[in-house]
Amino acid sequence: MSDFKNYYERIYGVRWAELLPALRQAAPKVTRPCFGGYSEYVMDSASIRAAQALKVCPGDRVLDLCAAPGGKTLILAEALQGSGSVTANELSMARRRRLKDVVESHVPERFRPLILITGFDGNQFGLKKKSEYDRILLDAPCSSEAHLLEADPQMKDWRESRTKQLAMRQYSLLCSALLALKEGGTLVYSTCSISPLENDGVIERLLKRKSNEVMLDPEDSDLLDLEKTGYGYQVFPDRNAGAGPIYFSRLVKR
Ligand code: SAM
Repeated sequence: MSDFKNYYERIYGVRWAELLPALRQAAPKVTRPCFGGYSEYVMDSASIRAAQALKVCPGDRVLDLCAAPGGKTLILAEALQGSGSVTANELSMARRRRLKDVVESHVPERFRPLILITGFDGNQFGLKKKSEYDRILLDAPCSSEAHLLEADPQMKDWRESRTKQLAMRQYSLLCSALLALKEGGTLVYSTCSISPLENDGVIERLLKRKSNEVMLDPEDSDLLDLEKTGYGYQVFPDRNAGAGPIYFSRLVKR
């Protein structure tokens, strides 16, 4: 625990004394009616905000790059209101099966043809699907400290190197997503990590290296109630009645 604790105490200062116990509590879930009451899906309210931040409109061609188990895919598909498409991609075969189950049990049959489930490495989309999507959600694999604390309460296996490695994987997926996005398209990058390296750090790197291609979305009136970070927003459980943690940043391709 001491490496983990020291690392985050250095980052969060006095806030850490409240953030750590809040991360240890199971996040309260909300039951969300899907497709006008066709089904209900239980998820964290912070995850709902991240998916809604993509502002999907009817007719959009949407990519959910890391989609399983699929709660956010449901929100994106619902926003299409029957026209457009969502490609829900997931690399892990076992998790892809869960994604299929979620779609089959929560999406009315007439809307299911709008959802295409694929199993590629997200890094391939940038090359194979260049400039194809209006909106992309990259809900990236991350440190997920709240889940780690549940599995390993003393955090014996936690290493600083892990968050650094994940930040590199996330950056690579983000570059792929940016290539797959159409000009003028919108991209939401999200994680359930509290590590700034995996959150603002990934976005900062992108903005520094590709400022001619991408910028933060200047229209943020729908997000003003959230806690702002350098390049995005965070919903952390110490300040949001236990919801989260979720970080997200919304970007627009120039
Ligand atoms: N968006 C999902 C939801 O709301 O239910 C949660 C996604 S979870 C944070 C990240 C997912 O990315 C995991 O299911 C993981 O298996 C998948 N993943 C990891 N590496 C990937 C890659 N290179 N390409 C595609 N998916 C990947």
